[in-house]
Amino acid sequence: MTARQLHRVQPLRASSRAAVPTLGLPLDPAPWMKHGHCAETDPEAFFPELGERSEPAKRICEGCPVINLCREYALDNDIRFGVWGGWSEKQRIAERRRRKQVAA
Ligand code: SF4
Repeated sequence: MTARQLHRVQPLRASSRAAVPTLGLPLDPAPWMKHGHCAETDPEAFFPELGERSEPAKRICEGCPVINLCREYALDNDIRFGVWGGWSEKQRIAERRRRKQVAA
């Protein structure tokens, strides 16, 4: 499955609707995802194989108009694979831990 396909099929949980900043864009995933820079690039770059670098995908995310929506979507939906919102899974794990500590 390509990143583009994954973006399209990943359901948006009700709990994430309130947490995602709107940035003036609709909250439904399909509409905001079409604004992503990755919609015009090779989706495979967003799912690097073990040992491959994620920097090419992260560079594409830089300046993406929906980067915050994308990042929060991946965090809220516990997406385990790929670069979302400029963050790797390792970065999302660290952010989830940080948020849990802040909330505790
Ligand atoms: S932040 Fe990155 S992964 Fe997310 S929509 Fe934009 S380019 Fe795609």
